[in-house]
Amino acid sequence: MRTNLSVEEALELVLGEVRGGLKAEELPLREALGRVLAEDLPALVDHPDQDDTAIDGYACRQADTLGASPESPVRLRLIGEAPAGRPFPGRVGPGEAVAVYTGAPIPEGADAVVRVEDTRREGEEVLLFAPASPKDIRPKGDDLKRGEVYLRRGDLLTPGRLGLAAAMGHPRVRVFRRPRVGILSTGDEVVEPGEPLPFGGVYNSNAYSLLGLVLEAGGEPVLLGKVEDRPEALLERLEGAGPLDLLLTSGGVSMGAYDVVRRVLEERGEVVFWKVKQQPGGPLLLARLGGLPVLGLPGNPVSSMVTFFLYGRPFLFRLQERTDPPYASLWAKALTPFRGAKGKKVFRRGVLALGEEAVVRTTGNQSSGVLRSMAFGNALVVIPPDGEVREGERVEVIPLTFVP
Ligand code: AMP
Ligand code: MG
Repeated sequence: MRTNLSVEEALELVLGEVRGGLKAEELPLREALGRVLAEDLPALVDHPDQDDTAIDGYACRQADTLGASPESPVRLRLIGEAPAGRPFPGRVGPGEAVAVYTGAPIPEGADAVVRVEDTRREGEEVLLFAPASPKDIRPKGDDLKRGEVYLRRGDLLTPGRLGLAAAMGHPRVRVFRRPRVGILSTGDEVVEPGEPLPFGGVYNSNAYSLLGLVLEAGGEPVLLGKVEDRPEALLERLEGAGPLDLLLTSGGVSMGAYDVVRRVLEERGEVVFWKVKQQPGGPLLLARLGGLPVLGLPGNPVSSMVTFFLYGRPFLFRLQERTDPPYASLWAKALTPFRGAKGKKVFRRGVLALGEEAVVRTTGNQSSGVLRSMAFGNALVVIPPDGEVREGERVEVIPLTFVP
């Protein structure tokens, strides 16, 4: 077992536990938001599928309209119209025009369009006060070229990409199955909300913040409830959990006599590492239990969320072969000081505001028991080991993408 790792070393070991091979499943597009593509998607069609007009106006021959102006308009004979989806069946000859509407194919014979604002209709004729131009013709394949791959395996399906898949002609997509993530809270004092709170009790908040984080990372949470600080209770519950891709436990990984998670994993599984030089979340543990990767998250509500965000989320991204990074940092001006810690990388919770200049202030009480810092903070402020941030200094921040 390794111990006292840096954040970077710990992350590498966690990612090293990804075995891959999540099965793919086929879903209709309407159910695929937030899923990750397991296949490359080529466009099945050109878009537009032929030259079409980007504006409402009149399609005609540009040569007929040269020099048209309000003072000397050009007069063309109107021979028909082409609304979107109803192509004009004939051909545009010299001195002729067809009324066209956005998205309609350019009729044969025409090579330019004049916008309707620069025209006036007079019975079967139309007056042009400006020359027609080809600039508002969208060439065939301007948006999508048939056969070209625009979405790839590993791409997260966002709203824009769902639309893109549809535009390319795909009604269904192959996506990775959502990883099943067990969430097990430990602690004699932990009580489900809705039950009366005994003296010294605490409501099981970790199960719900972790559930949210797992969903947000594309996983399928499997709520395993809570167990008391007894090794047998823990093992029993795990046996009934069904197949999992990752197990999250919360609590029981510190130094105390009742910290049974660590003991059980040492005896029944294999602990890869315990303790990371970071705050909050220092007692984090990584283990394997019969092939199942286990992240033993510290019980404090902020610690469990921060460690899941820093390690569990990247694990789930990698497992789903996501191509985008699980988090990224930017630099902001500190509006308040942030304390560091000796020998530890520190993740304070801040409120980040983006504008002409990014600025960040503390959420207030930074105790790892104060969950409000994660509920209303929208960024982690990163302070390197032995560092310290004074007001006005620039500091690295990691936006928490799930907080508005
Ligand atoms: P532990 O990591 O077990 O030493 O717990 C650290 C602190 O987190 C203690 O104050 C616990 O009461 C609290 N805690 C542990 N599990 C939970 C939970 N599921 N929900 C809320 N608080 C918890
Ligand atoms: Mg405990």
